[in-house]
Amino acid sequence: MNIVVESAVANDEAIRIEARCAAPGAHCPVCGGWSSRVHAAYLRSSADLPCAGRQSVVWLRVRCFICANTDCPRRTFIEQAPGLTRLHGRTTERLRSTMDTLPLALTGRAGARIAAHIGIATDRNTLLRRVMGLPDPAPTEPRSIGVDDFSLHRRHVYGTVITDAVTHRVLDLLPERDAATLAPWLAAHSEIEVICRDRAGAYVEAADAAASQAQQVADCFHLRQNIANSVKRTVTGHRS
Ligand SMILES: [Zn+2]
Repeated sequence: MNIVVESAVANDEAIRIEARCAAPGAHCPVCGGWSSRVHAAYLRSSADLPCAGRQSVVWLRVRCFICANTDCPRRTFIEQAPGLTRLHGRTTERLRSTMDTLPLALTGRAGARIAAHIGIATDRNTLLRRVMGLPDPAPTEPRSIGVDDFSLHRRHVYGTVITDAVTHRVLDLLPERDAATLAPWLAAHSEIEVICRDRAGAYVEAADAAASQAQQVADCFHLRQNIANSVKRTVTGHRS
């Protein structure tokens, strides 16, 4: 980030920072040619991380260059400050990153409360929109999965949750907990080598039918649960 800060003025509510890009020119985003011919310049404001409880705003003087390449379809282009701002962004990258982290850790309402406390002007809906706008994590090809049932409506409706046994990320939710629902999912994922499951007959049936290449193992929770139940039965049997 090659930025020169020209002034910083603080009052009781806010800090205003004026800055400019230090480079004498910029590369055209279309043809890649270098240009230092300035067509115009203007001030662009971006909300920045608060400082000492006060909101900060960076006013960046950006220049519009004339592309020196006469064959280029782009006549003029506006310089960017990578690492500080992005095209059409109203916040600096570091504020954007903080505003993405808050709702991920705290959800919208608590995130907005903390944001107000540290001096970031936002609201819970804005924070939630930011989370919705984040790119999905890159899909992985898990080798080891966990398969278990979960309740959508206790004692009435159960589905199946499939997790990556290494990252513990949820990979998929299936609407039933029977072999007919799980088998097609397993058949479509022939890369799976290990299936951690409980001892429900349905999951054994699905794994035997659709994932014969995979090793089936009992997951820790159910092993411990079995041991605990056995100990309890034994102790109860010897109570007298
Ligand atoms: Zn160009």
